[in-house]
Amino acid sequence: MENQLKKLMNDAIQMINKYNNIYICSHVQPDGDNIGSTLALAMAIKKLKKNVSIIKVDDIPSDYIFLPHIDMFEEQEYNDSVDLFISLDSSDLIRLGAGKKFALKAKNIINIDHHITNENFGDINIVSPSSGSTGEIVYRFIKDMKVDIDKDMATCLYTAISTDTGRFMYSNTTYETHLIASELLKIGIDINNININLYQSRTIERTRLFLEALNNLELISENRIALVAVTQDMLQNCNAKMEDTEGIVSFIRNIDSIEVACMLKEMSKEEVKVSLRSKKHVDVSKISIKFGGGGHAKAAGCTLYENIETAKDMLLNEISLSFR
Ligand code: AMP
Ligand code: MN
Ligand code: MN
Repeated sequence: MENQLKKLMNDAIQMINKYNNIYICSHVQPDGDNIGSTLALAMAIKKLKKNVSIIKVDDIPSDYIFLPHIDMFEEQEYNDSVDLFISLDSSDLIRLGAGKKFALKAKNIINIDHHITNENFGDINIVSPSSGSTGEIVYRFIKDMKVDIDKDMATCLYTAISTDTGRFMYSNTTYETHLIASELLKIGIDINNININLYQSRTIERTRLFLEALNNLELISENRIALVAVTQDMLQNCNAKMEDTEGIVSFIRNIDSIEVACMLKEMSKEEVKVSLRSKKHVDVSKISIKFGGGGHAKAAGCTLYENIETAKDMLLNEISLSFR
């Protein structure tokens, strides 16, 4: 497996060397792993004197605005001159939103990811489900490119790794995760500044939403399932945005008896985005796949095109089945 990944990385590096107009695509509702890996790889490719653009497909949550070169994230005019398209941290083309049409026109696609549900849609698929974050794969990739990782790149990679491993707490955290993190510290990143920006800058609006959401916490199935629904009305009441729901689902998973935590986000009257988390036994990626989504065993998501009450019933039904 290791050798196979190494070979795929070498093939991908050769492909990068061959082309000049390179697009790296973000995913919808981008998270720290996606944003951090994308910026780091874009900076590395830029050092090879290539034209590299980042395709921004959704708003950047305020937590990540501090990252170096975040203004490289730009909505791109669609054009025919895409040589190479690189997708990071996305298990399928739909997750790329408006980026999908660039992918379909590109001469080649490199797909770098760690989701077990990845659909291998690239010409080269560097997919490593044993990696805790795409950031870890991108760290190794940049090393193999023989590009020096500078402080800015290290800041972005550390953000990717820290956010996707729940600050090095989740079960996807490995020996290698810590080795890479220590290398990034050696480069001289300002860990205090990174942590303040990522974890100690919660706005008042986000705090109010957190309280309102928790006020509506539901405990189901002998307190093994926790559910929170965030509606558009709640956002309005708190003057908050949907991205301010970050952290709620992992907070409710922390309740001692809970095995599955579920957050429903009412995007519109007929669209509900779902976040699922589990603690020990339940594989939530299997639940989200049933609704056309994806993810990991302990963190997954999907979208239901239903009203929030129907979506809730459908989900609770599936989650309950997973306890049998
Ligand atoms: P979230 O709950 O949005 O933080 O997502 C948890 C995990 O599930 C992440 O790894 C996402 O990439 C994945 N995920 C969330 N929504 C979807 C979806 N609609 N399709 C595929 N994967 C998803
Ligand atoms: Mn992601
Ligand atoms: Mn990820």
